[in-house]
Amino acid sequence: MTPIELLQELLRIDTTNPPGNEEPAAELLRGFLADAGAETHVHKSGSGRANLLARLPGPTDVPALVLVSHSDVVAVEPDQWSRDPFGGEISDGCLWGRGALDMKSITVMHAAALAAVASGGEPTRELIMACFADEEAGGREGAEAVLRDAPAAIGFADHRPPPEALGEGGFGLSGIVDRPLMPIVVGEKSALWLELHAQGDPGHGALPPERQANINLARALTRVAGFGTPRVHPVMRKQFSILAEDASGTQGAVFKALASEGGSRVARLLKRPLRARGAIATLLSDTITPTKIEAGYKHNVVPGYASASLDCRLLPDTDVDALVARLQKTCRNYEVEVREHARHGGPVSARSPLFETLEGVSRDLLEAPVVVPSLTAGMTDLRYLRAAGASAYGWVPLVLDRESLATIHGHDERIKLDDFTRAVRAMTAVVRSACS
Ligand SMILES: [Zn+2]
Repeated sequence: MTPIELLQELLRIDTTNPPGNEEPAAELLRGFLADAGAETHVHKSGSGRANLLARLPGPTDVPALVLVSHSDVVAVEPDQWSRDPFGGEISDGCLWGRGALDMKSITVMHAAALAAVASGGEPTRELIMACFADEEAGGREGAEAVLRDAPAAIGFADHRPPPEALGEGGFGLSGIVDRPLMPIVVGEKSALWLELHAQGDPGHGALPPERQANINLARALTRVAGFGTPRVHPVMRKQFSILAEDASGTQGAVFKALASEGGSRVARLLKRPLRARGAIATLLSDTITPTKIEAGYKHNVVPGYASASLDCRLLPDTDVDALVARLQKTCRNYEVEVREHARHGGPVSARSPLFETLEGVSRDLLEAPVVVPSLTAGMTDLRYLRAAGASAYGWVPLVLDRESLATIHGHDERIKLDDFTRAVRAMTAVVRSACS
């Protein structure tokens, strides 16, 4: 089976999460990897979700290399698609389907790379592939379950250096600077999920009470929601210093200023233009975003209670406890109580030998990109591995434009076959080089 055929088959399995239904995908991959000579195992979480694990044994006194992906996908709105989202169809030079970018194509890159290494005899380190379930719903039945139940299966053991890991989060991007930008993601913003509970006096809409829950909630939200004060995290400082060498004119000057000692002050001054450029602004600020507001039930009744959910995405060095305390203090002024719902996060990985391999292969095999360390605003399973001590990098050897990027979790997700074939080669080069 060629990588393209394997990806077609994988895309035809509907792993929309919930419910996930990852088992057929895990079995398909297990067959491919066992044929290639790997030891394979499907690890079931407590509720029966299937996590595929494959390994090529190697010396255990050095860190294992773990290739991390997930087999579940997010839901589709089929009537918004111009092709069957689960048809595995090839047309216009692309392979179409939910998961074509996030991230079944990357799972196949990992599988093809492992197969290539297997054909070359015993690797110089243990090579593991983990295709987890449940990533799109937070990873409780996937990465979290495997790490808790079978840490050795993904390279964690006493008296052994923690593994290096490679996963999602770092697509190459075009249209930001002159050359394609190839980020190697070393850390993620953390997520803090809060609930706001507002109180007031209930009453008749014709006789509005003095204290109203809806108004209290609205006032609290307008005070706390939005972008926090911009600042330049050390990882982004390094990124800007590399970009400054590459860019000229105004753009070059801006990167240079952001990379300087006073970079955070510059980021504050440039708050508006940076925000207009989109994604970059999210990597320079904490963001606090209301995602759900619930209140009221009848047009002429004033409710005594209202609530909201906040999705806070915080730079890795933000003091989370201090932030919660500050939000509590502000909200108390409006009779709004802040309760914590969940916290996700992990440390930032330092530069390890794998980082250098990724840098080299990015330069050699892709269209002469600018390679930079980066953070990502999103959350991936790599946070679990970083928290357990792994050096983990988000790196995907595909260069996407804004239009393709929008198909991830959007409509008409697809991958160009030429890009995919080249990416399989680049992934194989990385894994081979890291295992020899
Ligand atoms: Zn993903």
